Amino acid sequence: MAIYVIGGGLAGCEAAWQIAKYGINVKLFEMKPVKFSEAHSSDKLAELVCSNSLKATNLENATGLLKEEMRLLGGMVISCADESSVPAGGALAVDREVFSNKVTQKIEESPYITVIRDEVVSLKKLLSENDDCECIIIATGPLTSKALSDEIIEMFGFKKLHFFDAAAPVILEDSIDESKVFRAARYGKGTADYINCPMKRDEYFAFYEELINAECADVKDFDKLDLYEGCMPVESMAKRGIDTLRFGPLKPVGLRHPITNEEYYAVVQLRQDNIEGTLFNMVGFQTRLKFGEQKRVFGMIPGLEHAEYVRYGVMHKNIYIQSPDMLDSTYRLKDEKNSIGVPIYFAGQITGVEGYMESTSSGLIAGINASRELLNKERIIFKNDTQIGALANYVSSYAGNDFQPMGANFGIMHFDVESVYGRVKDKKLKKLYTAENALNRVKDIVNGGV
Ligand SMILES: Cc1cc2nc3c(=O)[nH]c(=O)nc-3n(C[C@H](O)[C@H](O)[C@H](O)COP(=O)(O)OP(=O)(O)OC[C@H]3O[C@@H](n4cnc5c(N)ncnc54)[C@H](O)[C@@H]3O)c2cc1C
Repeated sequence: MAIYVIGGGLAGCEAAWQIAKYGINVKLFEMKPVKFSEAHSSDKLAELVCSNSLKATNLENATGLLKEEMRLLGGMVISCADESSVPAGGALAVDREVFSNKVTQKIEESPYITVIRDEVVSLKKLLSENDDCECIIIATGPLTSKALSDEIIEMFGFKKLHFFDAAAPVILEDSIDESKVFRAARYGKGTADYINCPMKRDEYFAFYEELINAECADVKDFDKLDLYEGCMPVESMAKRGIDTLRFGPLKPVGLRHPITNEEYYAVVQLRQDNIEGTLFNMVGFQTRLKFGEQKRVFGMIPGLEHAEYVRYGVMHKNIYIQSPDMLDSTYRLKDEKNSIGVPIYFAGQITGVEGYMESTSSGLIAGINASRELLNKERIIFKNDTQIGALANYVSSYAGNDFQPMGANFGIMHFDVESVYGRVKDKKLKKLYTAENALNRVKDIVNGGV
């Protein structure tokens, strides 16, 4: 008896770990290094393809709450992230190499998990060639290989949606001109973790002109695609107006020079990307500019004239299924849609949750519930009063006709704060109470035995 997990990304690794905790055997199929998607390049599991930030840590922030819920639930990916953290103000950012190594080691050392380095091209073929498969979890991510995504569409008639995410460049720290930049946190809050590249008015104008006229890489059907706002390429954002960047990623407010106290017209921020502090990524600089153009145009930013890029910004497609028609709130494919013969769960970005931690959280739920189904135990339904449950409920029961990926946020949670805490005016306090209640609900579930 085994559960087959397809895809060794964040969701697949978390799912496999949860299943192993139930003492059930797992076969985890990962196509790397036999085959790489357009964005993956490491042979390790749980590769972070873009930013090294797993976003905020505080509980008034929904991703902070989600992380805490996963800690309570014994999440493996979040514990590896905590152990690989690098300084990033109020966010949890990780050294991506250390993080992936830790996850890979845990998975490979589990006596219940067998990692098979091969592409799954067909579920039907997989089942016909193996007789120990009792359940499948599909966690192949936003860049699911073509053969498998074609079969998914053919079998389930899923509406396939494409749009593009963009990755920001990563720069070698010692190639940054220290004489032109300064380290500081906005408004001096927390430690001075960011490297700031300040721009005067004329420098910004010259940079802006080149940015909006720079040559972009040819990305198929780009103009027809919906862009996820959080991954909007910097050049596309710039084209909205000359000041758009100054109110977005190049916002100068709260960033005075620590010695001269000088204020600037715009500031580009660089965030630490590895524990050693040798790599920094350009905050908000997701881009589809050609590599040569990135070197030329970003080289106009003070301090980056001779920057060496360990990774240029790139753009990639994102595939997700029409979950509201297909899944229940445990990410399980509804029986009437399943002609495969074994239960199927989906997990990760392919379900329409958006983001590293969100994807991980769906793997956690799918792993727990696939295991419980196999063991004939009652499945665990997380409700909307928790963030982990709110995401699961959102993707499985969104009622509109324009289903779009969703990241963690308080808007999708349902909890009547005032019925428990009385009248609360302060919005931040409301969020804190909502978080407190959510953590209590998760503790109840944990105490009930997960
Ligand atoms: C370019 C890009 C940038 C992104 N930037 C961010 C960001 O900055 N922050 C953020 O929170 N999220 C970002 N995302 C979203 C991000 O992909 C998800 O948050 C997260 O990685 C999804 O986790 P996952 O486990 O669903 O998929 P993945 O982490 O992609 O894992 C899926 C795994 O399945 C494997 N696989 C695919 N097909 C097959 C097959 N047929 N057989 C076997 N194995 C297969 C892949 O090799 C991969 O290892 C980005 C996505 C992309 C594409």
